[in-house]
Amino acid sequence: MNDREEYIAYIRGRKSSDKVNYHLQAVKEMTRLRQENRKPSILLHACCVVCACWPMDFLSDVFDVTLIYNNSNIYPSGEYDLRLSELKRYLKERWNDQIRLIVMPYDNVTYNLSLQERKDDPEGWKRCFACYEKRMDECFRYADENGYDYFTTVMTFSRQKDSQILNQIGLRLQEKYTHTRYFCSDFKKADGQKKANAICDAYDLYRQDYCGCIYSYAARQKQKQTEADNGKETV
Ligand code: SF4
Repeated sequence: MNDREEYIAYIRGRKSSDKVNYHLQAVKEMTRLRQENRKPSILLHACCVVCACWPMDFLSDVFDVTLIYNNSNIYPSGEYDLRLSELKRYLKERWNDQIRLIVMPYDNVTYNLSLQERKDDPEGWKRCFACYEKRMDECFRYADENGYDYFTTVMTFSRQKDSQILNQIGLRLQEKYTHTRYFCSDFKKADGQKKANAICDAYDLYRQDYCGCIYSYAARQKQKQTEADNGKETV
């Protein structure tokens, strides 16, 4: 099977109903932890405040949550800064800075080079899988080295990202580490998106219109130009 055939088969497979319900797994694990009457620590990878706001609410009554902003994928640097400052503003306004935030070093140039081989991939294909894994692995290592009980990522909130793949990556990475366990999730489920929208409206949070990397940025710019050109034609 060549790459294109593999991609088509993957897209067809995404429509299948034969999927693991990771939201149910999350709920079961949280129910079990509530009965243990303790508050384990969790390191939560946040790509932006839009994806992170609801998962923080969801997790915080069971876990002692720490956020980690590890997103060298984001281009340009002004966009990286804006997403980070909106996250910080929300942590202050909603959480009174009670949730800690770790910011990892930003190096977009090296990051882009690591994805360049698959720069022509459609969004949601292998370039993205590598991008998920790279950021998750760096966070997982941090969690393990710093004694966190659990690690997970807010990326399962996004409808553009495949939560089956994200959870498979998380479970596979878990095998590399000795202490930290992966917490399965699907934050968009059970009205997660609706709840996040309400939070974003209430705090007037910045909502970006592309995923993050230079390739998704260029694709979005091209799409906007096409829309503008088409608009002009119909005037
Ligand atoms: S589109 Fe998003 S997930 Fe995919 S490579 Fe770019 S930043 Fe990473």
